[in-house]
This record gives sequence, C-alpha cells and structure tokens, in this order.
Amino acid sequence: MPFRDICGQDRPVRLLRRAWAGGRLAQAYCFTGPPGVGKRTTAVALAQAVKCPSPLTAPSGGEGPDACGACRACTRIAAGQHPDVTLIAPEEKTVITIDQIRGVAARAGLRAYEGTAKVWIFDPAHEMQEPAANAFLKTLEEPAAGTLFILVTTTFSALLPTIRSRCQEVRFPALAEEHLRTILERHGRNTEDAAAAAAAAGGSAERALALDAPEFCAMRARLVEEVWNALDSLPTLLDQAERLAKDREGLEEALEALLVFTRDAAVAGIGPPGAPLLPAERRAEVARVTGDATLAAVLQVHAAQREAQQALAWHAQPRFAAERMLLKMRQAVGRK
Ligand SMILES: [Zn+2]
Repeated sequence: MPFRDICGQDRPVRLLRRAWAGGRLAQAYCFTGPPGVGKRTTAVALAQAVKCPSPLTAPSGGEGPDACGACRACTRIAAGQHPDVTLIAPEEKTVITIDQIRGVAARAGLRAYEGTAKVWIFDPAHEMQEPAANAFLKTLEEPAAGTLFILVTTTFSALLPTIRSRCQEVRFPALAEEHLRTILERHGRNTEDAAAAAAAAGGSAERALALDAPEFCAMRARLVEEVWNALDSLPTLLDQAERLAKDREGLEEALEALLVFTRDAAVAGIGPPGAPLLPAERRAEVARVTGDATLAAVLQVHAAQREAQQALAWHAQPRFAAERMLLKMRQAVGRK
C-alpha cells in the first residue's frame, strides 16, 4: 500500500514522504506506537517508495511523490517477495535471534538486486535478544551505503539505548474512530458494523478488523449483566472475580465494557425525563441490569471500576483488583 492510501497517520506519513522526496531519509527509523495502527503498513510504503523505479510525481489524493503501487517492485514488496526488502520477525513467534541478525549483517554488505537501496523491517524490534541486539548495533554503526533499517515496536523503551540513539523515532498515535470506520468499510464492513467495531477497538485497526461487531456487542452485554447479577451474593461475587481475573488482558477488556455500560447508566440517570439523553431501548436495557440503583450508586460503581483500571495499570494482581472492585460495587448498590 503506497503512502497515499494509508489512513489516519497523516503526520508520520508526511514526515517520511518529505524526507524521502527531499533525499533526506535517515539510515534507521524506529516506528513506535500502539499495536495495529499502521506502523508495518507505513514501513512497507516507505520500502515501496525507495524501491519503485517509476514513482508518481503528483499522485491524486496525495501530497508530493509516491510509489506507483502497481509496478513489479511495488507488488513484490507488498507481497513480501522482493529480494531487497526483508522482514525480520521473531522465529517461531518468540525472539529475533542472533543468527537472523548475522544474516542481515552479511547481506547488508552486498549489492542490491535492483537499484541501490536495501530495506530491512524489524517487527517487532523489541523481540531482539540482547546478543542479537548487540550484533545489530554493529551493523547500525557502520551501515553499508543504500541500506535503510526500519524498526517497528510498541515499546521504544525496550530497545537498547544505544540502538535507540541511532534511530530516528517516528511516533504513530492510536487511530481515531473515523479512520477506523474508513478502514473497516474498505474491508467490506457495512456502516453500522464498522461504527460498532470502531468504537470498541481502542484505536487499533488490527483489533477492529478482528472484531465481529454484533457478536462482540452481545458478548459484552452478557458480561456486564453477569457481573451485575453476581453482586447479589458473596460466593457468586467471588466466583465472578476469579473468572474475570483469569488473565490480565481479559480483565482489562472486561473493565472497558463495564465502564462503557456504567457511563450509559449514569447518563440514563442524569437525563431529564422529558428529554432523555439515551435512546429508549438502551435505557430499558440499562434499567434491567442496574435495577433500582440510584445515580449516586452508579457513580460509585463507576469510581470502583476506574480504580480497578488504574490498579491494573500499576500492576496490581488482577484477582485482587477484580475482587476489590466487585465488593465496592456491591456496597454501592446496597445488595445484601
Ligand atoms: Zn512502483
């Protein structure tokens, strides 16, 4: 995908495009940002730009030159089959090994097959073991002419400081909902599904694409109801805490769903009866779950959920955070 088709990352894309068009590309870049926001896609676009033999000087819908996206070089790069553009990814999904880096170092000194540029994309770069990272550093310190290294990572701080200092960092923010919707619609989702998945994806296109929107919404609704029902009895509550806390990521997702629901419950409680802020259907759904909980109780529930989210961010034990939250919720809504 050439630069002009990348959605929602205008700033990093503009920076790279200008550097390329002006012949000012750095030898090594580090693309940082949350997962699924277009870092790898942009790395591929940059590789296409430097390797395309017939770039467009004024493509429609874009500013400045761009790869053509259609020639043999561009299509081979997009398919991961160009001999001068290599993706270095962890072997067997674990780490990038020193052998892989030795391979890079050996080939970096050779001539390119076509043209002069050779591109290496490391994704995720933070999966380089320390010996591999040290070996890579040598290549980075004495780069052969025409080499371009692109390190892709969600955790810039996990790279060796010596590597970080030799790369120009390019930050990719989480994607805005409108851009997620566009990406989903490009993948054939209808408007309604795209909107639901975009809202639930936390700024990640990867996540949004993985979500089956209606099924996902139903699953979240079930979870929220289950949690509220569990407040009725202490043993059920403790069981629920255990289930929620099975893994940290699952608990984080559950908290997101709970918070969205609680916000709606608060809004339902605030809106004047004559001019409700929530659609009637949603209000009925909220009321069915929260029962006769007052607005003050709902706000306390919200605080307990935010506190749990905060605690997780500070590496609290998931089980402890979940139990504490449920107990506070139970206290807030006055269930005995
Ligand atoms: Zn091309």
